[in-house]
Amino acid sequence: MHDFQYRGDELLCEEVPVRGIAETVGTPFYLYSLNTLESHFRAFQNAFSKVDHLICFSAKANSNIAILRIFVRMGGGVDVVSGGELFRSMKASASPDKIVYSGVGKREEEIEYALELPILMFNIESTQELILIDRIAGRMRTKAPIALRVNPDVDPKTHPYISTGLKKNKFGINLQKSLDDYRLANTLPNVKVIGVSCHIGSQLTEVRPFVEAVQRIKELVLKLRAEGMNIQYMDIGGGLGITYNQEEPPHPRDYARALMKELKEIDCTLILEPGRVIVGNAGVLVTKVLYTKEGDEKNFIVVDAAMNDLIRPSLYGSYQRVQPVHRSDRPEWTADVVGPICESSDFLAKDRKLPKAEQGDLLAVMSAGAYGFSMSSNYNSRPRVAEVLVDKDKVFVIRQREDYDDLIRGEIIPDFLK
Ligand SMILES: *Cc1c(COP(=O)(O)O)cnc(C)c1O
Repeated sequence: MHDFQYRGDELLCEEVPVRGIAETVGTPFYLYSLNTLESHFRAFQNAFSKVDHLICFSAKANSNIAILRIFVRMGGGVDVVSGGELFRSMKASASPDKIVYSGVGKREEEIEYALELPILMFNIESTQELILIDRIAGRMRTKAPIALRVNPDVDPKTHPYISTGLKKNKFGINLQKSLDDYRLANTLPNVKVIGVSCHIGSQLTEVRPFVEAVQRIKELVLKLRAEGMNIQYMDIGGGLGITYNQEEPPHPRDYARALMKELKEIDCTLILEPGRVIVGNAGVLVTKVLYTKEGDEKNFIVVDAAMNDLIRPSLYGSYQRVQPVHRSDRPEWTADVVGPICESSDFLAKDRKLPKAEQGDLLAVMSAGAYGFSMSSNYNSRPRVAEVLVDKDKVFVIRQREDYDDLIRGEIIPDFLK
C-alpha cells in the first residue's frame, strides 16, 4: 500500500495534489510520502516484534538525511557501505551502536572513522580486510567488533546485476572458507568476533532463497559456537522485493515468520537490512512532458527527467509504472517515455499504453523511492533534481534542486590554460 492515489482525476501524495507541488518546486522532482515510509518501517518492526532484532535501514537505497532521520527516530539503525553513508547517518543523528558497515572495498580512512564512533559491527568481506581491520584497531588501541559476510551460494532468482549471494559474485566469503577466516579472526588480538552476516541479493520475490541462506548460516553459527566463539548477532541482510508491475513478493509478515521458524533454537539478535521494501513504493519521480513525437515505428514522449535522474530502467531494464498526474479521457496510444540525454538507453518506460500525452502534462514515474535519487548523477551536466517530503497536508523540500554553480563546484582551470 502507498499514499499516491487519485482524488477525482488528480494524483495526490497523502492530502496534497502533486500538480501544486510541481508548480512551486518545478520539475523533475522526487516526492516521498512520510506516512508510507513510516508504515512500511513499522510493518517490518511489527513482523519481528516477537524476537530480539535490530532493523538497519540500508542507506544506499535512499540516503537523504531527512529520510534516514525518519527511521532513526523510529528506533532504527543504519546499514552503510561507505564513509559517506556513515557521515550521512551521523547527520541524521543515528546511534553509532546501531550501525553495521558492509562493502567489499572499505578504505583505511573509512575503517578508522567507523572505529572512532564506534559502530556496532563490521561485516567483513575478505581475509585481507580482516587483517587490515585488526591492524588499524590495534593502532587505535581498540577492538573492532566484527562479523564475516558469508556467501551462502543460493540463487536469489533475481536480476544478475542485483544478485550477490552466488559463488560467482564478488561479495562475501565462501561459506567453507569462512570457517578458516573465523578461526583466524579468533586469534587476532584487536578484533572481537560477534556475528555472522549475509546478503544474497535484491528484489527477491520468494521466501525460499532467504530460508536456504539462513539454514546454511545457522549451521555455521553452531560450529563457531562449538569452537568457543561468542556469536551474538545474525545479520541476514536485505533484499525483500516490491511490486513494480505484476510481482507478488511476500509480505514482511510472511518473510519474518519463515525466518523466525528457522532461527528458533539460535539465540541471536537478528539484524535486518531492508532498503527497497521500505522506501521503493514510498516515492515517485514527477516529470513534465516536453515534446511528443510520432515516429514510423514508435511514438515518443520526451520528458524532462532522464536516466541520470532514474537509472534503473537503463541499467537493469527495470519496469517502472508511469501514471498521469491528471487523468483524462483522451484516446490511448502506445509510446516510449524518454529523456533528453544523448544515449539510446535513456528511457524511463517502453511501449506503454497511456492517454495521449500533450506538452506540459505531468507524469509520475511510480515506485521510484529506492535506488532513484541515490543512484542519480550529473551526466550531460544536468543538475540533480529536488526531493520533497509530504506529511498529510504539509510539504517539505528535503533537498534543493542543484543549480549550474553546483555542477562545477571544485573544478579548476589551471593557470597555464588561463
Ligand atoms: C543493498 C544492500 C541491502 C539492501 O538491499 P534491498 O534489496 O534494498 O533491501 C542490504 N544489505 C547490503 C549489504 C546491501 O548491499
